[in-house]
Amino acid sequence: MYQAKAYAAKSATSGLAGMAIPRRDPGEHDVQIDILFCGICHSDLHAVRNEWSEFMPTVYPIVPGHEIVGRVTKVGAAVKKYKVGDLAAVGCLVDSDRTCPQCQQGLENFCPNLRLTFNSPDEHLGGVTYGGYSDSIVVDERFALRVPENLKLAGAAPLLCAGITTYSPMRRREVGKGKKVGVVGLGGLGHMGVKLAHAMGAHVVAFTTSESKKDDAVRLGADEVVVSRNANEMQKHANSFDFILDTVSADHDVNAYLTLLGRNGDLTIVGAPPKPLAVTAFALIMGNRSFSGSNIGGIPQTQEMLDFCGKHNITADVEVIPIQKVNEAYERLLRSDVKYRFSIDMASLKSDH
Ligand code: NAP
Ligand code: ZN
Repeated sequence: MYQAKAYAAKSATSGLAGMAIPRRDPGEHDVQIDILFCGICHSDLHAVRNEWSEFMPTVYPIVPGHEIVGRVTKVGAAVKKYKVGDLAAVGCLVDSDRTCPQCQQGLENFCPNLRLTFNSPDEHLGGVTYGGYSDSIVVDERFALRVPENLKLAGAAPLLCAGITTYSPMRRREVGKGKKVGVVGLGGLGHMGVKLAHAMGAHVVAFTTSESKKDDAVRLGADEVVVSRNANEMQKHANSFDFILDTVSADHDVNAYLTLLGRNGDLTIVGAPPKPLAVTAFALIMGNRSFSGSNIGGIPQTQEMLDFCGKHNITADVEVIPIQKVNEAYERLLRSDVKYRFSIDMASLKSDH
């Protein structure tokens, strides 16, 4: 065991501050990674503030962060894929039972014994797992990912959650040429959704509540942009979408989007608002529409997504911040005031006292 530096929250209202945490020494199959950048996902904020207390209560102290890129500094004797000095990434998963039907299909994200990067039981050290707002992490190489060398690291970090969470449902729904695809909410997930759907060849319509994001949406790859507060603009797209990806983190009217789906169209929700959403049966019945959900992605598909992003030179648009600004960043995230992902430069933690 060794001590790592981290930023942790001690309660739902304390905010985050520096704290030393234990990390295990790398075992036979483990890699130790010196973290260079970690993205800030809205899930970090939901968890830090215990907003999902009904579904996954937060154990304090919590060290969030599951969009991790860094360099390998140590490898266990049996490690095959990585050597010291390699780039490596860690997303939302750090372990699973590896034997269940889900794991056997590379869908570790649905393993009943899944271990998330933070706030999951840690059988190595006891307590819970600690995430990426830290100077290092130790993980089984099976849960580490390769980062394409051409990608800028600060913008590559958010691919590990925002990237895979939007990539996975779009692959499942065969997003591509000839498909009309909507992306609701231009935040961390949404802006990745726009970039990825565009790269897959779809006709992309971005929905935003923020007038000020209109020009950006086009630059990010949207063919059309709708300010969702404008009912006329919304109405023009009625009954027309093959697929809509909803990334909104708070309560909103999902029926307004369901009615924009064409026959057999699907709206997949990836946003995780803490409170239930009201769905009108008629919005689904009229047109055989479906309303689905999607949960990150398995390790093989996460690698596939990273390679896709490498090939198409896709990274997140990031505002790089020192870790000392993390509490301010959370307040801005709540106001939808980030273009489009905060990425923490972990060099700032090394000099933190
Ligand atoms: P984010 O960066 O805060 O983006 C959310 C966006 O939703 C905002 O930028 C805003 O876009 C829109 N929005 C926010 N409040 C709204 C409201 N009251 N009404 C309408 N639109 C609103 O968050 P994120 O990191 O992308 O995460 C989004 C959600 O996905 C979170 O709930 C997160 O926990 C969840 N998530 C789920 C998974 C999964 O596996 N399913 C994985 C990661 C994250 P505009 O300014 O454009 O309107
Ligand atoms: Zn996330």
